[in-house]
Amino acid sequence: MPSSSPTHFHAASRQVEPRTVPQVRTLFSVAACCGIVGGIVEGSALLLFQRINWAQWGRMMHVSLPILWISPLVDLALFSCIAIAVGMLWRMRPSIPAMRILIFLMAFLTAYGWLVTTGRLYRLSRILLGLGVATVVSRWYANNRQRALQLCERVLPFALAVLVLLFGVIEGLPRLEERAATLRLPAATSGSPNIVVIVVDTLRADHLSCYGYPRSTSPTLDRLAGQGTLFENATAPSSWSLPSHASLLTGRSVLDHGMGNVQPMPWSGWGDHGMRGLPTIGEALQARGYRTGAFSANRIYFTDNVGLGRGFMHFEDYFHSWADGLIRTVVGREFSRMYLNRSEKSKVTRALRYLGWDNLLDKDSEGSGDYGGVWGIRKRAGDVNSEALSWIDRDRSHPFFIFLNYLDVHYPYGGPRGYPRPEWNQGTVTDEYDTGIRYEDDYIGRLLAALELRGLGRQTMLVITSDHGESLGDHGLSYHGAALYRELLRVPLIFAYPGHVPAGLRVAGPVANDAIPATILEVIGNAGRQFPGAALSRFWSQRNAEFPAVISQLPQTDTVVPQDRKMQDRIPLSSTGSMQSVTTPRWQLIVHDKWPPQLYDWQRDPGETMNLAGAPEAREVLESLRLQLR
Ligand SMILES: [Zn+2]
Repeated sequence: MPSSSPTHFHAASRQVEPRTVPQVRTLFSVAACCGIVGGIVEGSALLLFQRINWAQWGRMMHVSLPILWISPLVDLALFSCIAIAVGMLWRMRPSIPAMRILIFLMAFLTAYGWLVTTGRLYRLSRILLGLGVATVVSRWYANNRQRALQLCERVLPFALAVLVLLFGVIEGLPRLEERAATLRLPAATSGSPNIVVIVVDTLRADHLSCYGYPRSTSPTLDRLAGQGTLFENATAPSSWSLPSHASLLTGRSVLDHGMGNVQPMPWSGWGDHGMRGLPTIGEALQARGYRTGAFSANRIYFTDNVGLGRGFMHFEDYFHSWADGLIRTVVGREFSRMYLNRSEKSKVTRALRYLGWDNLLDKDSEGSGDYGGVWGIRKRAGDVNSEALSWIDRDRSHPFFIFLNYLDVHYPYGGPRGYPRPEWNQGTVTDEYDTGIRYEDDYIGRLLAALELRGLGRQTMLVITSDHGESLGDHGLSYHGAALYRELLRVPLIFAYPGHVPAGLRVAGPVANDAIPATILEVIGNAGRQFPGAALSRFWSQRNAEFPAVISQLPQTDTVVPQDRKMQDRIPLSSTGSMQSVTTPRWQLIVHDKWPPQLYDWQRDPGETMNLAGAPEAREVLESLRLQLR
């Protein structure tokens, strides 16, 4: 770089930029060059710092490879708008140094954006550093006009080519791989049903009408329960998403698969390493000739990124809409931080609503907007359904297995704006939670109707469950993942497959919902030995079948939200130690690393208000239950 002595700079800045250079076209090509190159670096940095900042996983916005073409496209659009504005200004006032202004602005925004990706600097430091970089770059430009413009002209075609290549490889290669994997699948046994597993995240069973709740929250599930088998006391393997989903996929306990907390992704990707390499239901079904796909609205804990993708030939988590793509870029994050938490009266909110961009205002807790982070964009059940249906329609050469996660019951409650409020919704937290259930139930109905329309209704086995419940004030807690009480572990479980699973059967005893993989294999008549736990099909093949005591585990975690953490000095919580629970037809024993045990007679005391662990007559029960825990 040539020296830029103060005299030299002073002389350069005094010159009026020649009228012909920059032309408006030059403004554009400089903007395009900076937007694409800056955006590719930004996308790479978002991926890199997501990996470096792994310990903050629950409090950040997440990305995967498509960010490498989305970030440059967004930056290209932003810088082009700035170029238009500067060009217009320059037309009105030809004496302004248009190119130098443009370069200053782009250098500032690029440097500021790159610093955002680190997730480690305060905004003021980013602004100051950004201004410093912009000053240096624009000075350098003033002293090297021709060279700078020539450089841009030369780099632009390469940058465009790289952008197109990135798009092609990132979007095209997985499709080709999936196609090749489909061609390699063995033929499925004739009559193999399609399999749909729906996890309604954060759904406690006692808020469903088919589980005795007085409100009509679940007409679709009530109908399904009539057509299939309902487990009245299904118990989740843990009380938050990550460990529970890993158990639902592997049929193993949390201590077995080791996903009690987010594990850092290996630098070379997960490969076969996620969940300690244990067999997954997706792998087992692929080996039996199934196409397998996962569609997730929980973009924090049920994603390919956290190691739960093994066994799925196709996994859709991030980037379900243009708004979701935008919000994961730096421009989107800054927009979200500044504008997504405004009131309905705000001009920005009203303008976005006027433009019909309501989905950009449908906030999601990914990114920890509640705790000073940025807001994500909610992925609704309708989005999950469309992804799954268009994937089903793509290829019918094999039966399919889809695993869906719906997040609409999860906080923030209430379903999307504009969804009609049921008459019982007076605005309390519980009313809003129940409204989310009604919304979800509605969309399960729509998915089933779409499958019927495709003639797939009778050939499809349906499994509905949840990964955990929600406290809603019980035991002084609000959310989940902090404890192992019944309101957190008792989840719905319904199997419906007309002609193969008994209709209208209700099983009263406690069962584990991580028995789903073993049960699916039993029902399709090809069990094998991949999943060690007891299958639930015993309840429709044997009278008076029994199920082993149900174990749930909750390793110590720092993911407990501050509202629940406030209780950690009063009751045993996972923020202060690891917990386990065993549930039998009458008792639940909960143990904690550092607290005395809790024993509840849940049949008589379903709210678990009386800890009987200290009662002399309970000593024998307590000791026998304790033996069942590790
Ligand atoms: Zn969850």
